[in-house]
Amino acid sequence: MPEPGDNPTSDPPVRSMSWDAGLSHDGVMNTTALLTPEPAAPPAAGTSLIDARDLTRIWGKGNAAQVGITGVDLSVQRGDVVAVIGPSGSGKSTLGALLAGIDRPTSGSLVVGGTRIDQMKQDQLAGWRGANVGIVFQDFHLLPTLTAVENVELAIELSGSGIGRRARRNAAGEALHRVGLGGLARKLPAQMSGGEQQRVGVARAMVTQPPLIVADEPTGALDQANGHAVFELLVGLARSGSTVVVITHDLALAGAADRTVSMIDGRIADVTVRGGA
Ligand code: ADP
Ligand code: MG
Repeated sequence: MPEPGDNPTSDPPVRSMSWDAGLSHDGVMNTTALLTPEPAAPPAAGTSLIDARDLTRIWGKGNAAQVGITGVDLSVQRGDVVAVIGPSGSGKSTLGALLAGIDRPTSGSLVVGGTRIDQMKQDQLAGWRGANVGIVFQDFHLLPTLTAVENVELAIELSGSGIGRRARRNAAGEALHRVGLGGLARKLPAQMSGGEQQRVGVARAMVTQPPLIVADEPTGALDQANGHAVFELLVGLARSGSTVVVITHDLALAGAADRTVSMIDGRIADVTVRGGA
């Protein structure tokens, strides 16, 4: 019997997105609703967006089993920035992929935004992901033949929302403006620095104001200054209503998160709360 998630789709180059939040009753996109700093429905304080219980991801069986994570219990409060740290191979990316709905657990339960996603079928999960998660990759994953604004726009277009071209362009342009790239909208990825490309990646992830943003080593390919700037953007997204899970090797950046989850050997070894709250 095939295990769930035996063939995980890794790193889809483009994800679909839900535009419901930005649609008025007549289907005309309201970019203000999409990009205003306030979330459409402010989260109740102290409620968790993510609840993982005994979450386990193992590939193969018996002696050949490869443990990604095992027995992970984790709750993430809405609006928090959670940093996930730990040595290479400790399960950070495995956890991130499960939380983002890119992969499915072998066992355990995972509730995100009130929805149990651990039992979802692959296509169901893809739909859920498109509506609820923004993903930022270490190596940006921009399409090289599209300009910055086209990369952000494409994500909107692929959501199948039927939103008009001009409205898409406006929303994408506004998202680029928010990440400080208003002037580079027509540049191709190859004409941009790594830091700029990652800002496009952040704009693409946040343009629909998804409840959850998952970033796997988003600063890993950047110098310190650019890495810091991208991390600050992610913190800013959390302050405007998203919940952000960011995997990082950089302990200085992790120190700016609300919580830091330390992983060792596929397990959570420690959780540090900033300010002792
Ligand atoms: P990290 O992101 O902390 O470096 P990963 O989550 O990528 O760690 O990997 C955790 C463990 O799971 C490693 O031992 C890795 O080899 C294993 N692993 C990750 N993905 C797979 C896979 N697709 N098949 C088999 N083992 C995997
Ligand atoms: Mg990793």
